[in-house]
Amino acid sequence: MKAWEDKIRRVTPYTPGEQPQEPDKVKLNTNENPYPPSPAVKKALDGMDEQLLRLYPDPTASVLTKAIAGYHGVGQDQVFVGVGSDDVIAMAFMTFFSSGKPIFFPDVTYSFYPVWAELFKIPYETKPLGEHFEIRPEDYYDANGGVIFPNPNAPTSRLEKVEVIEDILDHNQDCIVIVDEAYVDFADYSVLPLLDRYENLLVVRTFSKSRSLAGMRIGYAIGSPELIKAMSDIKYSYNSYTINQTSLAAGAASISDETYFRETIERIKATRRRSCERFTELGFRYTEPQANFIFVTHPDLDAGELFKALREAHIYVRYFDAPRTRDYLRVTIGTDAQMDLLFDFLKDYEGRV
Ligand SMILES: *Cc1c(COP(=O)(O)O)cnc(C)c1O
Repeated sequence: MKAWEDKIRRVTPYTPGEQPQEPDKVKLNTNENPYPPSPAVKKALDGMDEQLLRLYPDPTASVLTKAIAGYHGVGQDQVFVGVGSDDVIAMAFMTFFSSGKPIFFPDVTYSFYPVWAELFKIPYETKPLGEHFEIRPEDYYDANGGVIFPNPNAPTSRLEKVEVIEDILDHNQDCIVIVDEAYVDFADYSVLPLLDRYENLLVVRTFSKSRSLAGMRIGYAIGSPELIKAMSDIKYSYNSYTINQTSLAAGAASISDETYFRETIERIKATRRRSCERFTELGFRYTEPQANFIFVTHPDLDAGELFKALREAHIYVRYFDAPRTRDYLRVTIGTDAQMDLLFDFLKDYEGRV
C-alpha cells in the first residue's frame, strides 16, 4: 500500500440506472419521460444570447425561483432550487440532519438516502414498510434526527395517505420532515397544502420526470422561509452558482407551458392504465401505481431471470437485488409503442418458461 492511500476517503457510491447506447433499445429503467420537453423550452434555448454564457449565472436563480413560486402560489423566499433534486436533497441532509440522532426512512425506498447519510456521517435507521409497502406511522414516533421518504414511494409507486403523513408530522414537531415528491405530478394529490400548518415540512420536487428535463438537472424544495434560508446559507458556503444559464431559461420556459405539461402527464397516465391491464392479463401483480413506473411481480416467474432476459433483448427495466425487492421489477412507463414491445416480449417469454 502506498503511504498516501490511507488519506483517501472511501465511500460506497449510489448506483444509477444504466444509460445503454444501443439504437434499438427500449429504455424503461430510469423513470425518464418518453416525451420531449415543451416546445417553449426549445424556443427559449434557441433564443438564448450566447453572451450570457460569458457571465456567472444569477446565484439566487431568481427567474426560476420566481416562476416556481408563482406556479405554486408561495413566496419566493419559500423556494430553493438545485442541480436536480438529488442536489437539493443532499443540501437538505447537510442542513437539517445534523443533530447526531439517527434519521428515519423506510427500508424500501430511494437508494440514494443511505448513501447521503453515510457521506455526511449521519446515523440512520430504516423502518420496514408493511406487507403492501405502506408506511406505518407508529414507526416514526420515536425520537429521531429527522425523517425523509418519497411520496409516491420509489420503487413501489405507492402513494401514502395524507392522514399518515400528518400523523408523522404531528409526532415529529421537533425535527425536519422531508417529503420527496419526485413523482407527485403523476399522482392523485400532493402534501403541499400541509405547508400552511407545518413549518418543519420540506417538500422536494424535480423537473426530471414530469417535465422531461432530466438532462437539464433542475430540482427544488418548498418550505417555510426559515428552512429555505438555512439551506441557502449552506449552498452559498459550498457552491454559489449551481443553476447554469441554460437551465434557468429552460426551467422557466417549462413552467410557462401548463397546457403541454398537463397533456404529457395525461398521456403517460393513459399508458399507465393500459399497461396495468396488460400486466394483469399476463398474471403480474402490483400495488396501484401513482408514479410514472409500475413495480410488478409474478408468482411464477423469477424476476432476476426475467430482468436478464429482457436486457438481452435490449429492453431495460430496473431490478433491485435486495431481500424485499428481488421478486419485483420496476418498469418505467414509456410510450404506448415501447410498452407494446415489452408486452410482446413478456407474452412470448411466458410461453417459453
Ligand atoms: C429521480 C429521483 C430523484 C432525483 O431526481 P433528479 O433528477 O436529481 O431531480 C429524487 N428522488 C427520487 C425518489 C427519485 O426517484
